[in-house]
Amino acid sequence: MKRIRSPSPVTSSKTASNSQHQAKKTHAVESPFPNFAHPTLAEAYEVHQILSRAHPAHGAVRRPPTTSRNSAQTCGNVPNVVEALIGVILSQNTSGRNSASAKTSLDAAFGRNNFAAIASAPRADVVEAIRHGGLANKKAATIQNILTSIKEKHGEYSLQHLAETDAPKRMSDEAIMQELISYDGVGPKTASCVLLFCLGRDSFAVDTHVYRLSKLLGWVPEKADRVRAQAHLDLRISAELKYGLHVLMMQHGRSCKGCKKTGTEAACVLKAHLQERRCAQDSAGRQGL
Ligand SMILES: [Zn+2]
Repeated sequence: MKRIRSPSPVTSSKTASNSQHQAKKTHAVESPFPNFAHPTLAEAYEVHQILSRAHPAHGAVRRPPTTSRNSAQTCGNVPNVVEALIGVILSQNTSGRNSASAKTSLDAAFGRNNFAAIASAPRADVVEAIRHGGLANKKAATIQNILTSIKEKHGEYSLQHLAETDAPKRMSDEAIMQELISYDGVGPKTASCVLLFCLGRDSFAVDTHVYRLSKLLGWVPEKADRVRAQAHLDLRISAELKYGLHVLMMQHGRSCKGCKKTGTEAACVLKAHLQERRCAQDSAGRQGL
């Protein structure tokens, strides 16, 4: 029996649970680090500006979902919610090229969005279809289990009720998040990608690049794991910056050699920014300001 938590605010004691299962499912309406006051609004805007200048082709215009996209390569940038979810699952722990190829091969094997066929197929057939994407056994199990749960809960292989845009059927971001993470194998990052790229909501997905850069920038405590970092940042970063910052930080994380490795001489606009800020603080300190 799946439990969907109420979208109403929960107390911080709930979000601070230490168990791994809870940590995976933790999506907070209160930061797990309530006393950590970064990033400020100004800090987030500043980094958005710096990255916009460094990567002008990214993040400026929000791309609405279309059926012409491969959901695994685009973090779920398609209109069908179940297809978006499967795409994001396929994209976990692999390159865009491999996950795109796994999605193409899944479509070829079962028919695009033929979720009934995927759900009822022998596990080995699904594993074979997505083997280009890595972790095929785990991902096949996750996908088949989610499809079965969706059918049990809603009577059909569809989550399009999450895409309703008009009142009174339109759901809150938090209610959508809670429904998505109620499915086994769907964590807050996967759910956040579906919110951001499929449903057009403002949600701050923290993947491996965003996580690394957030630590570099001092936006999350050193001890923060990726899930808690997302819970913190989703609350600290203003809605209008979430899409742009996510896309820009992903792009920077993928392309910049200067902050990928320690000890490199390669230039990095974020490292230069941090250096400048440290110098300004030092000089203010020397002047007794
Ligand atoms: Zn960099």
